[in-house]
Amino acid sequence: MTDRYGVIGHPIAHSKSPVIHGLFATQTDQDISYEAFDIPPAELSTTINKLIQDGIKGLNVTVPLKKEVAELVDHLSDRAQLAGAVNTIDVKNGRISGDNTDGVGLVRDLRDNLGIDLMDSRLLILGAGGATRGIVPSLLEAGATSIRIANRTLEKARGLADQYRSLGAVTPCRFDELERESFDLIINATSAGLHGESPPFPTSIITPDVVCYDLSYAMRDTPFTAWAREHGARQVHQGWGMLVEQAAESFFIWRGIRPETGPVLKQLP
Ligand code: NDP
Repeated sequence: MTDRYGVIGHPIAHSKSPVIHGLFATQTDQDISYEAFDIPPAELSTTINKLIQDGIKGLNVTVPLKKEVAELVDHLSDRAQLAGAVNTIDVKNGRISGDNTDGVGLVRDLRDNLGIDLMDSRLLILGAGGATRGIVPSLLEAGATSIRIANRTLEKARGLADQYRSLGAVTPCRFDELERESFDLIINATSAGLHGESPPFPTSIITPDVVCYDLSYAMRDTPFTAWAREHGARQVHQGWGMLVEQAAESFFIWRGIRPETGPVLKQLP
């Protein structure tokens, strides 16, 4: 019988997850279906319960539901607990488990696909939302020596830095405090580009050696990758690889099979 999976978010029409998981299923010969469900936050709990009653085996979770879902599941993996956010729900024998594959997905893309050495690197993350929460522990584990978290709302960056300080050198600041600082890798984890906005990042952070990575992805340059390119960054990347790698880790959790990501990545823009 075909096993049902899906992705939940609000909005969800833009999601590439159905295409990615469809390609994984064909490649690994798995009999699954994968649908997108638009769930307003107020209807989250009742809709998830209904989907599970109807036999759904697993769900990906995207903006803005990751934090709320972490409070609804029966069990959290260590990395989901640390992140306080869930992007993968697995339903087995009536038990609902929550995991977070964003961090491992990003690190695999940076290190394995793009050949970026994270060992002893100095990182800047712009933004302090759910995605930042998920990626900081994995980046520290991969060898980053320091992570600066800059955010429009300083309190949120402070909260994250406090939460992760025991894991490594994580410090918070505002965007305008970044003048005269330099980094090996800058990760844009704001959602500003989705709304066509360009936050006031100081241009001085774009040095000739810096690599810039936008978690967001688009058919062309995102506002951040265009800005970083214009100011002379050494390399500029979008989050397509992270998207595929985090999906592959979810697929592995559900099916126990690790799909090859390279061929799938080639079929996306
Ligand atoms: P959240 O809504 O949790 O956080 C959004 C962040 O963006 C906050 O830090 C917010 O700042 C900041 N922000 C939003 N608008 C502006 C603005 N105009 N100026 C400055 N800062 C702004 O989103 P997520 O953390 O879940 O996602 C962030 C991005 O990462 C999204 O674009 C998402 O699509 C992408 N993503 C990509 C993945 C991939 O696989 N490639 C996986 C996960 C996420 P403040 O706190 O001040 O409100």
